Amino acid sequence: MYRRNISNILYPIAGVLGLFIVYEAVLKPVYIQTPPPAPIDHTSPIDGTDRVPDQAYGPPPEEPPAAPQKQLRLIDAAGVSDTKHHRTLEAIREEIEKGNLKAAEAQLRDLPEGVQTDAHARPSIAILWNNLGIEQEKLEGTKGSLKAFKKAASFDPGNPVIQMNLAHGYWEQRDPAMNQEFLERLIALAPQNPFPHVALADWLQEHGRLGEAARHLDQAAQRSADDPSAQSYLRTVTSKMQRTDQMESRLTSREGAHFTVKYDGDSDPDSWTIVLDILEEAYREVGQKFGHFPSKPMVVVLHPNATFQVNTGSPAWADGLFDPVLGRIHLPTQGALTDRAWLKRVLRHEFVHALLHDQQGLNHNALPTWLNEGLAMQLSSDHWPDIDQLRRHELSLIPLTALEDSWNELSSEAASVAYLEADSATRYLINRYGMHEVQQLLARLKRKQSLPAAMQAELSLSYDQFQSRWMAHWQEGRTKAS
Ligand SMILES: [Zn+2]
Repeated sequence: MYRRNISNILYPIAGVLGLFIVYEAVLKPVYIQTPPPAPIDHTSPIDGTDRVPDQAYGPPPEEPPAAPQKQLRLIDAAGVSDTKHHRTLEAIREEIEKGNLKAAEAQLRDLPEGVQTDAHARPSIAILWNNLGIEQEKLEGTKGSLKAFKKAASFDPGNPVIQMNLAHGYWEQRDPAMNQEFLERLIALAPQNPFPHVALADWLQEHGRLGEAARHLDQAAQRSADDPSAQSYLRTVTSKMQRTDQMESRLTSREGAHFTVKYDGDSDPDSWTIVLDILEEAYREVGQKFGHFPSKPMVVVLHPNATFQVNTGSPAWADGLFDPVLGRIHLPTQGALTDRAWLKRVLRHEFVHALLHDQQGLNHNALPTWLNEGLAMQLSSDHWPDIDQLRRHELSLIPLTALEDSWNELSSEAASVAYLEADSATRYLINRYGMHEVQQLLARLKRKQSLPAAMQAELSLSYDQFQSRWMAHWQEGRTKAS
């Protein structure tokens, strides 16, 4: 968020959460198991696929994920009609079980043409690729497993478990192959699973089709009956999306090279060009400084002042807002034309939040608030006059560890200090270690490393050490200044 005047701070609203959080917290499968297959000459899909929905989200209730042996019990000797193929495939299964993944992959790749085209063998080959992928994922995440899941899917496109594994890989990697067509097919294969609906809602909203997105979220909610917290969350996002759809349907939309601006064409026909100019400049400047450019066009919504707080649910003080649920920058426009400097500051600040959100992808929430706000202030080259004033006062600093989560509970004085510290600590981080190291640090957070672990690995110092060095630097600066 951006505040015009930090000496008059009210409390931020509870941060709105994005769909990626539904995924992380609720829908992400702990593990999609591949049930023991039917004999490979069986024409129906793998047995037990109707259990997929239960396994596909939420923490495993009582039953922990099956032991690896169970997941990998793939080829039932009794079911293999062709002895020659059976022996070959069985050998690969054993390699996977023993963890010889490279060997297993090579053998799968080198399967003779005759085996690969054998309609009876193909479902088993698919399962082997799938389970190889699962093992690879344990080592390298979906980056390592996606290729294997794609292979698996090519051998047996009708297997819902494999398709679901593939979908999760696509989702985590933000792979463009997870498009409407793929997801609609997945919905047909696993009709009771909420995940494909959430993923499709996400895809649709990215493509500006909010009404349809809301419908799929609603379907996901209906399919989450056994997880009340997921269900109520999905319902909240659904109605938020419906409201946004209604509100935005009244707006005019203009598409620039990297931004889509939505605005009220009747009451404010001109602001959008100014907004677009400022944003395109920020795109170039901040993108270059930071070394990352948004992966897709960003949506910016200009609200006539009277409706801004109603439409965004933002607190009275908020001048601008980045909404990670729908990935939009919101901005009130009344007076925007007359105060160009203000407009520029707010837009650049929110742009950095949007950029960080884009870069962190699914793991946006791993970014500590002080670092998120600090980067927004540093990268937008914004200098808050009242922060400089505050710097001269005797302050009791809040430990950075207490500024990682939402700042909602902070008093207004504490919030001012929080912004000041975020700005100062982030500037120290950038100046002392360089933007490249900061980027490496962010990459580690994206990979779900904790901040202390990421700092230790990347900067070779503990979080505590970083903090005390920064504080020493701070004191030094104050002594010099006075
Ligand atoms: Zn902010």
